Amino acid sequence: SPGPRHPSDDLLERRYRVVADVQEHYYTAPPQIERGWREYLMDVDGRVYLDMVNNVASVGHAHPRVVEAATRQMHLLNTNSRFHYGGITEYGEKIAATLPDELDTVFFVNSGSEAVDLALRLAMAATGRRDIVAMREAYHGWTFASDAVSTSIADNPFALETRPDWVHTVAAANSYRGAHRDADAARYAPEAVADIDRIVAGGALPAGFVCETYFGNAGGVALPAGYLQEVYAAVRRHGGLAIADEVQVGFGRLGRWFWGFQEQGVVPDIVAVAKSIGAGHPLGAVITRREIADRYRTQGYFFSSTGGSPVSAAIGSAVLDVIQQEGLQDNARDVGAHLAARLEDLGTRHPIIGRVHGSGLYLGVEFVRDRETREPATAETAAICDRLLELGVIMQPTGDHQNVLKIKPPLCVTKESVDYFADALARTLETGW
Ligand code: PMP
Repeated sequence: SPGPRHPSDDLLERRYRVVADVQEHYYTAPPQIERGWREYLMDVDGRVYLDMVNNVASVGHAHPRVVEAATRQMHLLNTNSRFHYGGITEYGEKIAATLPDELDTVFFVNSGSEAVDLALRLAMAATGRRDIVAMREAYHGWTFASDAVSTSIADNPFALETRPDWVHTVAAANSYRGAHRDADAARYAPEAVADIDRIVAGGALPAGFVCETYFGNAGGVALPAGYLQEVYAAVRRHGGLAIADEVQVGFGRLGRWFWGFQEQGVVPDIVAVAKSIGAGHPLGAVITRREIADRYRTQGYFFSSTGGSPVSAAIGSAVLDVIQQEGLQDNARDVGAHLAARLEDLGTRHPIIGRVHGSGLYLGVEFVRDRETREPATAETAAICDRLLELGVIMQPTGDHQNVLKIKPPLCVTKESVDYFADALARTLETGW
């Protein structure tokens, strides 16, 4: 068991006193983490945890090539991005090369919130409009504009009431939970198209439509087949742009696809990325077409002091090299498929498992009290996560009902490690929580 916190350890109380206590945090009595290695975290007592939740540490904690690249560049030069240096160009070329040819122009920022914010502003600048259509139950960031399009009640209970009037929404296209379930999920796309037509008829011409290309905040639920083809076509028919939030789901995690939009067979106009691309270092990017990027100036000034700085570019470059050279996308596909099969197998014995969602190393186990009504097992999910911590696994709930296990370990996670997680979950479900 994790054991009691050190009686002398008042660090947590000091944290809440000095660091604004509005940020969500993991666990009421969290272990104090001191270091990380691959998919493992170690606390100050030397206890090791399997980190099954960390999509930020994409290539694994403390990857030597990333550490080396950062250290080397830190010794040489770190400065703002107005200077001329090799890294920003080389990394820009590398990241653009992972995308379809027409997405050829990169902006560098420092986070996912900034990337989504910039993506929205690019759409507004390119179209000369300000209205945005967003999918409900989403999280896109905390900045003014990214927060405005975030309507997940788990993240913001007031999200729907406090939304500014330039934000319009369509239903969350969740095929497990929501108005249209299972085979009926095909109805989400025509309904969203009708909603967009209605929004336009009401006088609001959309600058763009924004959503995650794989429904990450619901625990890795694939959008219904063909959904983005229909909805992107509708928004474009009305002169708006398609904005893809790939902050969680992009960059190889889905295994079979490097980008979430590939699963839907579409190419967005603007792509926002962050989190995994910096493997924990603050780094975000927006990639779009040259003519869209050029229109930004109609909105004002773009300058990010540290977005794509020499150190950020060196880290981003090393992370992408590691993903490609160590075959981490293939690892996500293979180890993820093995884990999904183990979780499905658990589902045959434990009716609390309503559905196993996801692809690659983005999986969600949705817990329900009743498989027919799909009543969310919210309290049970919290208790299961607490028990998993005792068993040495870091795991958190996600989704608007907080009843889905958010499974997104570092992409280097091994088959042995995911077996450890599946065994720990099996033990928890068999012996109680
Ligand atoms: N978009 C999505 C889909 C996210 O999950 C997040 C972060 N949870 C963000 C945007 C915002 O990213 P950041 O925390 O780096 O600002």
